[in-house]
Amino acid sequence: MDDETKKQKKREYYLAHREEVLQKALKYKEAHREEVNTKARAYHASRRDKANQKRRAYGALHREELNAKQRAYNAAHKDILREKTKIYGKELRRREKVEVLRRYSSEVPTCACCGESIIEFLCIDHINGNGNAHRKEIGLSRGQKMYRWLKQNNYPTGFQVLCWNCNTAKGLYGQCPHQREK
Ligand SMILES: [Zn+2]
Ligand SMILES: [Zn+2]
Repeated sequence: MDDETKKQKKREYYLAHREEVLQKALKYKEAHREEVNTKARAYHASRRDKANQKRRAYGALHREELNAKQRAYNAAHKDILREKTKIYGKELRRREKVEVLRRYSSEVPTCACCGESIIEFLCIDHINGNGNAHRKEIGLSRGQKMYRWLKQNNYPTGFQVLCWNCNTAKGLYGQCPHQREK
């Protein structure tokens, strides 16, 4: 019997006894679960390795061509790419800010003085009013770096959320006029 005939016979057998064959395979799988899983994992890992090797080999062989293509694409989409990077960076900074504000306020961050809740209006206030000195001490400018510093230092106490209005007024007059009215 040649290979083709063998294959054909196998196919015919399978079609005639499909239910039986599947049941047997299932039983075998259940009885040898660990072994089957290990084999499957090894199979997939080797397939993955092969695919990666192929990709790397292709990349090495066509490096110049691929680089040129990438450069051409970047040049043709310069404005869109720049805009995308800008939007992405803005979104990241906003997320970082909201994350920090939440820690010093609540789920919906609000100004501790007047209750303002528009994120763009909110900032972090040094409760004791030594903001400039503290910023100098830790070597940071105003703004984004401050949020990062608070996060990296595990949200130390002594800070609160205020809006720019209340924060500036507090800095100028030592107390926000809102507090005087109360
Ligand atoms: Zn306020
Ligand atoms: Zn206020």
